[in-house]
Amino acid sequence: AGYTVAIVGRPNVGKSTLFNRLLEQRKAIVDDQSGVTRDRQYGIADWNGKTFNVIDTGGFVSNSDDVFEREIRKQAKVAMEEANLIIFMCDVATGITDLDEDVADVLRRTSKPVYLVVNKVDNSQRQLEATEFYSLGFENIFFLSSMSGSGTGELLDAVVSHI
Ligand code: GDP
Ligand code: MG
Repeated sequence: AGYTVAIVGRPNVGKSTLFNRLLEQRKAIVDDQSGVTRDRQYGIADWNGKTFNVIDTGGFVSNSDDVFEREIRKQAKVAMEEANLIIFMCDVATGITDLDEDVADVLRRTSKPVYLVVNKVDNSQRQLEATEFYSLGFENIFFLSSMSGSGTGELLDAVVSHI
């Protein structure tokens, strides 16, 4: 029960960094099934007294590109089913990749809100570079440095406006 936000995107964009930061706000409860390889992590975040569930996707491993791509698409689909809102994370340091385009294609099929989060926007140079992500065509776009926390307040304000 409750409002659920899923974080999707290809590996290494910073999903888990954001996940940990969101949970750190308060009441971090991470479901720990030790010894089990999980492809999702669940936690509870709290922002200005509003509580919501967060799903961090993509803890899978694969040694084949095909399986890998399929896995990411699957994660995006599961997120679309389980979540009320989807955070689609990309990485300004790499720019838009083919895998980002794949995930974007899947996410365009949902009627649920999708927030495009461009991560690793650590400095003003990267702020300029990040504008390329408007071309993915998502209405809601946020620029973050999950590492420093910059931009997370605006994102969280927008998320809890749905609750
Ligand atoms: P995930 O695979 O999407 O869960 O990505 P991780 O959260 O594991 O992060 C991948 C790498 O990106 C790690 O080395 C992080 O420290 C780094 N990273 C995450 N957020 C930022 C950020 O805002 N700026 C920079 N420069 N690096 C980041
Ligand atoms: Mg991760």
